[in-house]
Amino acid sequence: MDAGTRIDGTDRIDKEALRRKYRQERDKRLRPDGNDQYIRLTGRFAHYLDDPYTPVTPREPKTDHVTFAFIGGGFAGLVTGARLKEAGVDDVRIIDKGGDFGGTWYWNRYPGAQCDTASFVYMPLLEETGHMPTEKYAHAPEILEHCRRIGKHYDLYGDALFHTEVRDLEWDPARSCWIIRTNRGDEFTASFVGMGVGPLHVPKLPGIPGIESFGGHCFHTSRWDYDYTGGDPSGAPMDRLAGRRVAVIGTGATAVQCVPHLARACGELYVFQRTPSSVDVRDNRPTDPEWFAGIATPGWQERWLENFTANQTGAMPEEDLVMDGWTDIARRVRSRIMALPPEDFVPEKMLEAFEDADFEKMEEIRARVDAIVEDPETARNLKAWYRQLCKRPCFHDEYLQSFNLPGTHLVDTGGKGVERITERGVVAAGREYEVDCIVYASGFEVGTEFTRRAGYDMTGRDGLRLSAHWAEGMRTLHGVHVHGFPNAFLVQPTQGANLISNIPHNLTEAGRTIAVIVEHALRNGFHEVETTEQAENAWVDLLLSGRGMMLGSPDCTPGYYNNEGRDPGPRGRLNVGHPQGALAFFRHIDRWRSSGAFEGLGFR
Ligand code: NDP
Repeated sequence: MDAGTRIDGTDRIDKEALRRKYRQERDKRLRPDGNDQYIRLTGRFAHYLDDPYTPVTPREPKTDHVTFAFIGGGFAGLVTGARLKEAGVDDVRIIDKGGDFGGTWYWNRYPGAQCDTASFVYMPLLEETGHMPTEKYAHAPEILEHCRRIGKHYDLYGDALFHTEVRDLEWDPARSCWIIRTNRGDEFTASFVGMGVGPLHVPKLPGIPGIESFGGHCFHTSRWDYDYTGGDPSGAPMDRLAGRRVAVIGTGATAVQCVPHLARACGELYVFQRTPSSVDVRDNRPTDPEWFAGIATPGWQERWLENFTANQTGAMPEEDLVMDGWTDIARRVRSRIMALPPEDFVPEKMLEAFEDADFEKMEEIRARVDAIVEDPETARNLKAWYRQLCKRPCFHDEYLQSFNLPGTHLVDTGGKGVERITERGVVAAGREYEVDCIVYASGFEVGTEFTRRAGYDMTGRDGLRLSAHWAEGMRTLHGVHVHGFPNAFLVQPTQGANLISNIPHNLTEAGRTIAVIVEHALRNGFHEVETTEQAENAWVDLLLSGRGMMLGSPDCTPGYYNNEGRDPGPRGRLNVGHPQGALAFFRHIDRWRSSGAFEGLGFR
């Protein structure tokens, strides 16, 4: 245990010392440029975005009409497409920049990629497609295959446009449809459009001086270059790295998963760390088919989803079906709060209990580093000094162990980051590390404008641009409908449940909602559906009535959870979910859908 975090040699945690340490570590990392420290992969870096997995095939531009077009072929597009097909909409055209369905799982094929939330709740439509996840935390190839399974099961391939990026979306009031223009010369129309471009799909690079000068090989983790490394996404050894010197820049959730594989394969591996991740126990295991047959009774996935969300949001169900790292976090907080005497059931004391549970958990995670990592200096540097939800919690049973291998070196940069990149390698704390290859595990754009990340700025009724409508921040009804943009639907978590621990659940609910609305419109001969200004305003007011906590508070060490530690201004207050939490939202939307009144929407 670290000196200064405990007092009297007892089990009591010196909370003030910890708070001080957390503040010091945060302050070291705060920087004035926030999100601007990162660079986009354009110009000389554009080739980093090339698809290494599927060749682009020529095709004729589309100039036809479809009932529903969906932008994004990841889980959002797949689950919405599935529900639309179930509702009898035959022509659903999914458009994706990748060469197949999968979204995140199409691109992220780095070695060791796997889900961090239990597969039984993370992988959508398991019951509908009859798939049993082979592991509690399925690996990427299985999840990608599941995406393809959904695509086939719901016959979504026929109309899909892959390797296609939407450049423009324009509402045509005369025909009550959307005109969709793409980078492949398409100009077709759709009665309805859905958008599920994903929160983390635009890779970014750190703006390190000299980054363009490196003479060796490099790539971003979301475009893994197996031609260079050897091996494959299912874990075959990366034999071409034998004897090579490789640098990994970044130690977030991606690095935590790929470092163990690189450590086994490289001659020398240098892991450049600015901020350590908290790495808790993974405890993955194969699924026992007998056990699965026992739980997979009709309606099982809905029950599991509901149970997971209830456990996450303090509804206190009697059992925890999922029992993963996320429900563990919630369970601990809850049991601390429940242990309070009745007179202490006030927000201040409850927040204190929350903090206590967090201190306890993080102390365990730090102790785990000491128990696993042999070199004391490396162990010291791998400890995370912040509250667990300040950064994406990680779970792994081989990451910390990697640093015991003789060829694997942690290069801790004391919170400053890599200093420079040269023709030969990477410079940190004044020392140059010569390498053959740099792997950028530097993440994806998050805090930037939606329209910038989407790659188009849609034009709705009366020439209204989405960027203009959202100039003061995001405004929607339920995170799905936007006033001024008829027949258009968003599929994403913000302003809905905002359940970050299981993103697919947000998407499946939105998909269901959209299918019900579209079916209602088509059955009744309506050509347009749009949320009213009043309903949108009321929903935004409801969102603002909550505590308005962004994920990760300003007290946290900087990262994409807290806008790199910079005040996002009043717009940031709108990046929230239902004030009563995810379960309350899911219940609300279920009632809203099944009432059939679609309050807040106007049909014409
Ligand atoms: P992250 O944005 O989480 O991590 C980027 C890393 O790059 C950070 O460690 C960051 O340090 C580091 N970095 C940035 N600039 C520098 C620099 N100049 N020098 C050194 N290091 C630098 O990206 P990831 O791809 O790891 O993860 C993104 C998200 O994707 C996750 O948070 C998670 O939501 C999701 N994901 C989910 C997985 C799953 O469910 N299984 C697996 C992988 C990813 P710092 O922390 O100091 O900013």
